[in-house]
Amino acid sequence: MTPFPDLERLVPDYVKCFEAYIPSKPDDDLKKLYGCPKLYRLNNNENPLGPPETSRRALRAFDTTRASIYPSGDCYHLRQKLGGIFGMRPDQFIVGNGANEVIAFAIKAFCRQGDNIITADKTFAVYEWVAEFSGFEARLVPLVDYGFDAGAMIERIDERSKILFICNPNNPTGSWWDKRTLCSFLDRVDRRCIVVVDEAYREFVENPDFPDSMALIANYPNLVVFRTFSKMYGLAGLRIGYLAGSSEVVDIIRRTCVVYSVNALAQVGAFSALDDPEHVGRTRESVRAGKGFLLKELDLMGLDCVHGEGNFVMTHLPISDSLAYRKMMTCGVMVRAMTGFRFPNWIRITVSHREALEAFAESLSKILKEGRMF
Ligand SMILES: *Cc1c(COP(=O)(O)O)cnc(C)c1O
Repeated sequence: MTPFPDLERLVPDYVKCFEAYIPSKPDDDLKKLYGCPKLYRLNNNENPLGPPETSRRALRAFDTTRASIYPSGDCYHLRQKLGGIFGMRPDQFIVGNGANEVIAFAIKAFCRQGDNIITADKTFAVYEWVAEFSGFEARLVPLVDYGFDAGAMIERIDERSKILFICNPNNPTGSWWDKRTLCSFLDRVDRRCIVVVDEAYREFVENPDFPDSMALIANYPNLVVFRTFSKMYGLAGLRIGYLAGSSEVVDIIRRTCVVYSVNALAQVGAFSALDDPEHVGRTRESVRAGKGFLLKELDLMGLDCVHGEGNFVMTHLPISDSLAYRKMMTCGVMVRAMTGFRFPNWIRITVSHREALEAFAESLSKILKEGRMF
């Protein structure tokens, strides 16, 4: 290797001490590695029904000559459509390469050196990660009863706090704030900070007490809502998500956006996903049935579960989660081991279709039985 002594000097300390996230290997490699002919991925909360029929049709009809043309740089048509659906102006939306990208847009727009963001200790980790590898402090407030602690988050606010991130419903616990809790939180924050409500799983929620956050933006100009096409709309592979907020705030965030980060196929898929009137209902039904089955199976194994809204369930194992992960992989079942997410020996399971959940239940009960023999 050619020596590069200046590298050390070039890298900021907050990047030096940050460890890269290692994504899982492709399925064919994993199947070889673990010797399983089939692999059920229950680790990423994907929709087993796939994208809506309307998206599939539009994607199949995509004219391949368009691959050589830059897409709309600001997802013009999609933002028009979102504006119509939510009764907002198209310029109140910013579309990104997955909701993951809009997290970075928001942090870059508001934080400078010495600033902090506030979120929970056990939630979607990307808010914390983006803040830290950008050199900002992430203040992590412990969950109470597996839910976000509104009062404790407010107590952590100081004059350098810029963004409060609420994951609603929370990944991985499924806990959620109802309308009253969110409004009273927003009232107490009183426009001192930006409040981001990440609603990646909003479309799975049927409870009428769940907040209509898009409507709240009119009263709370500091409220920013995140949504994604990755979960309910089954377009995770195309990478598209968006944020919505007041025009004042969105005009600021837009300055930190990378234009052309959302590709043409993703725009076509997302635009047409919103045209399928049955997809959401069918998915909810499948999640309801799957969750019922999964909870019953976990109960039969004598395991404690944490779940709420969303297409995932967490369960606590009497053995190491990484050991369970590896053993389940040999049975062709991939779950999310949660030790790295501050839930030692918990796993998170995506509520997939029946066949996958049966394979999961079979593999876990086999592993637990083996464990009890020693
Ligand atoms: C999956 C997920 C996202 C990211 O979605 P992408 O649009 O695929 O980047 C954001 N927030 C939460 C809570 C999620 O679970």
